[in-house]
Amino acid sequence: MYLSSLGQHSTRQSRLKNLASASFGMIFAWFFCAAFTSAFAATTPSSVPAVTRLTDVVIVGAGLSGLTAAHELQGTGLSYQVLELAPIIGGRVKTVEYSRPGKNKSMVTVSADAGMEEYWESNPAVALIRKFKLPIQTDHAVSSIVIGGKLYSLGGKNPLDHMHRLFNGSELASLTRFKAEIANMTQGLKSGGGIPTALQHLVHVSFADWVKAHKLSAKLEDWIRITLECEIGTGWDRISAIDGLAEFHIFVGNRETKQGETSYRVVGGNVKFVNALADSVGRENIATNKRVLRIARDPVKGTSRVTYLSTDTNQNSEIEAKHVIVTVPLYRMMEIQFEPALSQPKRDAIAALGWGSYFKVHVMLPRSAERFWTVRGRSMLPVLSDSDLGVIYDGNPDDIGEGLRKTGDTPRILSLLIGGDRAERFNFTPLDQARAEIKSAFEKLWPGVSRSIVDMEFYRYHPRAIAAWPVGRSRFDQMSDEIRTPENNVYLAGDHTESSHSDGAVNSAMRAVSQILKSKTTSIITPIITPIIRGRTDDGPRNKKI
Ligand SMILES: Cc1cc2nc3c(=O)[nH]c(=O)nc-3n(C[C@H](O)[C@H](O)[C@H](O)COP(=O)(O)OP(=O)(O)OC[C@H]3O[C@@H](n4cnc5c(N)ncnc54)[C@H](O)[C@@H]3O)c2cc1C
Repeated sequence: MYLSSLGQHSTRQSRLKNLASASFGMIFAWFFCAAFTSAFAATTPSSVPAVTRLTDVVIVGAGLSGLTAAHELQGTGLSYQVLELAPIIGGRVKTVEYSRPGKNKSMVTVSADAGMEEYWESNPAVALIRKFKLPIQTDHAVSSIVIGGKLYSLGGKNPLDHMHRLFNGSELASLTRFKAEIANMTQGLKSGGGIPTALQHLVHVSFADWVKAHKLSAKLEDWIRITLECEIGTGWDRISAIDGLAEFHIFVGNRETKQGETSYRVVGGNVKFVNALADSVGRENIATNKRVLRIARDPVKGTSRVTYLSTDTNQNSEIEAKHVIVTVPLYRMMEIQFEPALSQPKRDAIAALGWGSYFKVHVMLPRSAERFWTVRGRSMLPVLSDSDLGVIYDGNPDDIGEGLRKTGDTPRILSLLIGGDRAERFNFTPLDQARAEIKSAFEKLWPGVSRSIVDMEFYRYHPRAIAAWPVGRSRFDQMSDEIRTPENNVYLAGDHTESSHSDGAVNSAMRAVSQILKSKTTSIITPIITPIIRGRTDDGPRNKKI
């Protein structure tokens, strides 16, 4: 079946090629489209999402990166098909819904993010979230923090007052100088822009050593370390100084606030963002339960055969594409065969990456427990800690203010983002023990709170879930550029190709699509058949199945 459909396909293609070269007239193009559409519509199984047999772009993975790539392809005239291994879209964006007893024991639904939490202002995802008019909640870059076992709470204060309470005058002056130095150094840093000569030495020292060389107070050092480590999911001594700078820029701030970028969360959970993206790209262009196994270049046709396994039926199928965007996290690339193999420099660059880890916990409490994290009527969350609690986020921040009054006695969820070595340890700890350890850490922070904890749910991620660049490497170095260079019309995207976060996922998708648009290999027949198959609307050409 597999061979016969391939044979049928190539016959049709070659017939087309001959005809196309004889005449690019409209009548032929119409005939071609009609024949193609009906042939494939007939063979599409109705029980699974339809998969096109020939498309301009196959996108592997329906996380933020894959969905953004599809979004960016809209209006370009290129058709696309997203293949996702999981039964649902979103990847590391995961909003979990819980049904829990609320007021008068009636069941209420509450949700919290079990994957990514927040977006920083410089993240291009924020513009997309605004475009989709999703409800957002904003916060300061400065958070409540536990340093040396003491909790410094932001609750009710503005960030500047908070910093004045945290540090003395001379510490604040050093921090201002430190931030100004980082602002200055990071100005010329951009993906694909190389490393300015003046910064090259920073590839060969760790961020920890670079900070320590500034002889800041121990408290300031701790503040920098704790603030940064939760972002990178690993130790500050395990990343190069240049990557520390790139990560720390979000806390440097602009001229006005000097307190870092604003952070954004989607009210109701990040699933709303992936759903908005999926709706915008057309659900019919996304097929779930499809594990991509092989991407093989056909040197004659100049296209790629993308083989995938439908994991719900164990059916092995394939789709032909002119371009393939792979958004699979780089540590999972080894699960896909490339023919020809990925170049050695690319493989070396992937092998030389570092990694961070995350472990996520949802802690359920009754609303009455809010008193533990409320100061002068204001929540002190999120709280950055240097303990087994990691970062304590409000799991359902939409349920505040007016919402709180309306919803009455809804349960509260604290969402713990635990990173680095602690995440590694928890990833291999029996969950009963993890629960006991987390309760005991809570008890140290807010004595009495552990008695209010109703239950906990745990979410494990692969020990390499977060990309990092160790000493000797940088996201701006030539090896990273190598990963971003397309090969055989295969474009590697996904957060790991640019940064450790969702900004990398979105930026890489945008980069891959612009690389495709710039590529000279787009088939000559595309511009002729595209307007006919897709039709034009006010939004520009529509992506339709062929
Ligand atoms: C616990 C946690 C908290 C985080 N918090 C934040 C945060 O607050 N802010 C932030 O900016 N970032 C955060 N991140 C990082 C952020 O989640 C990621 O950067 C982003 O979601 C990555 O998107 P992606 O599309 O590149 O990769 P993914 O989301 O991993 O998507 C890749 C997709 O490819 C699919 N796939 C894999 N193999 C195959 C295959 N062979 N065939 C087909 N499909 C395949 C996967 O199933 C997946 O859906 C966090 C990450 C974690 C784990």
